[in-house]
Amino acid sequence: MAKSSKNILDEARSSIRQIDVEQARKMIDDGAAIIDVRESDEWRQGHIPQAIFIPRGFLELRVEEKLPDRKRPVIVQCASGTRSLLAARTLAEMGYENLYNLSGGFNGWKDKGLPWVAERQFTPDEITRYSRHFVIPEVGEKGQAKLLDAKVLLIGMGALGSPTALYLSAAGVGTIGIVDFDSVDLSNLQRQIIHTVDRVGILKTQSAEESIHALNPGVKVNRHEVRLTSENAMEIISAYDVVVNCGDNFPTRYLVNDACVFAHKPLVDGAIFRFEGNATVFSPDRGGPCYRCLYPEPAPPDMAPSCAEAGVLGALPGLIGSIEALEAIKLILGAGEPLIGRMVYFDTLSKDYVRVLKVPRDPKCPVCSEHATQKGLIDYEAFCGLGAGATTNGAAHAAAGR
Ligand SMILES: [Zn+2]
Repeated sequence: MAKSSKNILDEARSSIRQIDVEQARKMIDDGAAIIDVRESDEWRQGHIPQAIFIPRGFLELRVEEKLPDRKRPVIVQCASGTRSLLAARTLAEMGYENLYNLSGGFNGWKDKGLPWVAERQFTPDEITRYSRHFVIPEVGEKGQAKLLDAKVLLIGMGALGSPTALYLSAAGVGTIGIVDFDSVDLSNLQRQIIHTVDRVGILKTQSAEESIHALNPGVKVNRHEVRLTSENAMEIISAYDVVVNCGDNFPTRYLVNDACVFAHKPLVDGAIFRFEGNATVFSPDRGGPCYRCLYPEPAPPDMAPSCAEAGVLGALPGLIGSIEALEAIKLILGAGEPLIGRMVYFDTLSKDYVRVLKVPRDPKCPVCSEHATQKGLIDYEAFCGLGAGATTNGAAHAAAGR
């Protein structure tokens, strides 16, 4: 005989134990799991902090991954206690042994004044734009909120800065700072894909901002149209969560490294040379090395050819810049293991193509070790043998970013 919804609910009530919010709170403190089976818009407006979110429609598909232990006490919760009752009945069929239905649901919990949290309220546009992020367990709505709140500083808006800025903007990093004082030149466009022909002659920061806003108008762009120096570096860097080096010369590379060590900011680093490239994350605070652990002293200026002399390939910066964007995103999300103490090294002309190298911390590092001899920023032009006032567009360009 066909069952009415009342029949089904009565049956479920007779087989699933009902608990009130006070009992639920005690059980959660003692280690019971709580599943919230409401819809995502209800979840976003407020939920129990410890609750695991599995909308009713995905319950059977996702519950085993989230709750592999079928003996663990599980409280099922919705808004008032009806949908959760049906969900609990399904879980009983799936072999979950210790099931409880929260009578009164989230509304009852809230009315008792017990703690609850609200997720960031996404706009309809954001819900659509980031929908592919929402379904990734490591991102989800929580991760997307972190991205939207994050501030990332990009040093240089050339070959590496272009893909890094585009991917970070597309991913919804809320604030992107760009340090660059250069203008777009036609010779840049073979690899600096954020710029366009009609923007030749304008500042790269301005050109990048236009491209970023064309892609994602929600991103706030801070334009730092200055040369990064020992005088301004600490102040600029301090406003950001993650710094990404997309630059191309040794004085800036050393300056950014040292400033990030002193400001306790993780530094995503990338470099390119013809068909070769590498990327890593410097973060002594998390046990990894800094750039000075690897290269305490700069190479003599005549050993570092300029882009114009060495040539710089298109496409390769897309690879390295994308890795830099990815590492910045991982750091913001706290997902997986960042490339700290590891360097991905590409030799794209070889069949082996890619290797991951261990890069250890130097216990005698002049900047990040216990015995650091350098406590503040120095004159990096002089340090790199360029003399005060040397231009960063001169022969000291390591072919590493533009
Ligand atoms: Zn170091």
